[in-house]
Amino acid sequence: MPDDTSKRPVIRLISLTILVLLAGWAGYLWLTITAGPGEFSSATFLNVGQGDSELIETVHGRQVLVDGGPGDQVLQELGEVMGSMDRSLDMVILTHPHDDHVGGLIPVLERYAVDYVVESDQSAETSAIMKKWNQAVADEGAEVVFPQTGLSIDLGDGVTLSFYVPKVDADYEESANHRSLVIQVQEEGECRVLLTGDIDIANEEELIASGLPLSCDVLKAAHHGSKYANTQVFLDAVQPSAVVIPVGAANRYGHPDPGVLDRFSSLPIYRTDLHGRVTVQLSEPVDIGVQGD
Ligand SMILES: [Zn+2]
Repeated sequence: MPDDTSKRPVIRLISLTILVLLAGWAGYLWLTITAGPGEFSSATFLNVGQGDSELIETVHGRQVLVDGGPGDQVLQELGEVMGSMDRSLDMVILTHPHDDHVGGLIPVLERYAVDYVVESDQSAETSAIMKKWNQAVADEGAEVVFPQTGLSIDLGDGVTLSFYVPKVDADYEESANHRSLVIQVQEEGECRVLLTGDIDIANEEELIASGLPLSCDVLKAAHHGSKYANTQVFLDAVQPSAVVIPVGAANRYGHPDPGVLDRFSSLPIYRTDLHGRVTVQLSEPVDIGVQGD
């Protein structure tokens, strides 16, 4: 029948249009979900130049900032990752009191409402920057926590932060690097990211001797890839699938050390000076993306 044949193309066209719309809608949904916050818990290594700064976000929006790099570059990074309207952080963690870790946390405390501050006990620290930090913490009114080895902080969504606090040995107390808090970012009980602050070889040996399980998917190279850390024996203990090196371009310390890069050469290496921000998806399958992906 002529009527039937004339209708079929119309029906086909409508079907096609609906399919295209559905495909477009599905694509839009997919893009929205993957690009927006809240699809997966993550740890993002912020691009703060020669320093460390990591933002941990859970699916339901818990936000923890570990270190702030030097200066205030961290503010722009946080604005871009969290959105400029978000002016609160659940927790700020200071691994140790050096400028390239604490410097940016001072303006962070000034701009953001922070509920908890976690830091190693630095009561002996009298540097000018730590006086500013202590004042900023007092002004913030945040609850201050001095962690001990074994402290575990539950962020929800299966994400926990597990702490190791190096023992302070009088022999090497001359550098605060030796007192860097070590943090395992765990998801469903598995270590996804091992944050090592600026620990050195003695700390790496201490961690191995502690008998704690160290194996972890992603290792943050200690001390910006310094040759005074990142030993082969520590790498063997952690057995990471990838390494992230937070480091500034052309820094005056020569970080990362070429020998350390050689040691990491069988692994994917992500560097903030080359890749910009580096984001690790904490849930299985653990995945790493870089700025501009
Ligand atoms: Zn450092």
